[in-house]
Amino acid sequence: MRIIMLGAPGAGKGTQAKKMEELYGLPQVSTGDMLRGARAQGTALGIEAARHMEAGNLVPDEVVLGIVAERLKSADLANGFILDGFPRTVPQASALDEMQVVIDHVVNIHVDADELVVRLTGRLTCTGCGFMHHRHFLPPQEEGVCDKCGGTLTQRSDDNEETVRNRLAVYQQLTAPLVEYYGERGLLREVDGTGESPSSVLEKVKAILGTRVTEE
Ligand code: AMP
Repeated sequence: MRIIMLGAPGAGKGTQAKKMEELYGLPQVSTGDMLRGARAQGTALGIEAARHMEAGNLVPDEVVLGIVAERLKSADLANGFILDGFPRTVPQASALDEMQVVIDHVVNIHVDADELVVRLTGRLTCTGCGFMHHRHFLPPQEEGVCDKCGGTLTQRSDDNEETVRNRLAVYQQLTAPLVEYYGERGLLREVDGTGESPSSVLEKVKAILGTRVTEE
């Protein structure tokens, strides 16, 4: 099964993709994580990507397409995957079609804009294990310290309010047209995530996709 997670920044694509990875045994492929990895390693691609990410803009299509095309060749993705954060533009979706990657479901998580801002600006990510706390919804027991592993919690550099507002505008302009793109192809599965906890969103996803994956 090949799944695309669609939705605005903060809609919960990554959170659901991680839960679905566990449930279905399909690897999560997050372009945001790949780009942050490249930035942390200080590669030329990472430095180029960082400029765009810090401003809340998209990384150019050709840069993202290069890393995705490479990743999709990996043997661990032969039985399927969950794309988290890709495609994010119509040209990226067309390129995926040209690579002859057959997608089974596009899960579109909708969350109201006001809630997205609160969600994103309150996120606290553990530098140790990657677990995500939230200032309001899931505060750590000790400030700045991850409940799971004791690691340090930091705010993602693109989760400040100004950058968040730009990311949401960019989403509307460049990514939202994918709803129509995949709707026309009969692949869109709509999930309303407004006011919902991650586990209740997962229940909705399971109701649509089922609870297990059958091998093709
Ligand atoms: P995310 O972790 O998915 O929120 O992505 C963080 C940032 O990485 C985005 O705001 C973009 O700057 C960049 N990014 C991630 N995926 C893509 C993509 N498919 N196309 C362009 N830029 C991306």
